[in-house]
Amino acid sequence: MASKQIKLDEIKQAILDKKVTPELAASATQLVFGDGSTDAEMVFVGEAPGKNEDLQGKPFVGAAGNFLNEMLNMIGLKRDDVYITNIVKYRPPNNRDPLPEEKSVFLPYLESQLEVIQPKLVVTLGRHSLNCFLPDLQISVCHGKPMRFKGRVYLPLFHPAAALYNGGLRQTLIDDFSLIPAILKKIN
Ligand code: URA
Repeated sequence: MASKQIKLDEIKQAILDKKVTPELAASATQLVFGDGSTDAEMVFVGEAPGKNEDLQGKPFVGAAGNFLNEMLNMIGLKRDDVYITNIVKYRPPNNRDPLPEEKSVFLPYLESQLEVIQPKLVVTLGRHSLNCFLPDLQISVCHGKPMRFKGRVYLPLFHPAAALYNGGLRQTLIDDFSLIPAILKKIN
């Protein structure tokens, strides 16, 4: 059986071969597929790459990424212990919100990434990520509460970029994040 990395490379190549979102691909520097351990217990799913991510080809490497790294350290983890990706794999022009059709066309590839990695917990960052898996839920209501849906466990969190410059949201995100070790322990 092919290793997880080989299977992930095939998914990445399929995005390129099928020319998914050609307009986004044309305006972006490169595809930002995902980064981290293929054996991770946790996969973090953001929205779409920003400027730094587009330039470096890795998700969450700017200010929001630094904040995410700090919170991982707070619970005794390093970035390499988890896997990080986004729904949309190319930077939208001027960091605009991803369009519904962009999110839906990338969703099968995200699902395939999760099928390969098989994490215990999928942590959604922000409402775009939450609503691509759980369309009817509101982040303001369900953040910090793990939920099981179709055989997978999700933890909805606020997006670190939104929380970065909003003191109240920042503390809420830190508090929710600190629940992760206990949540992981409970998942069998
Ligand atoms: N915000 C996201 O949603 N994803 C990134 O990769 C960076 C910032």
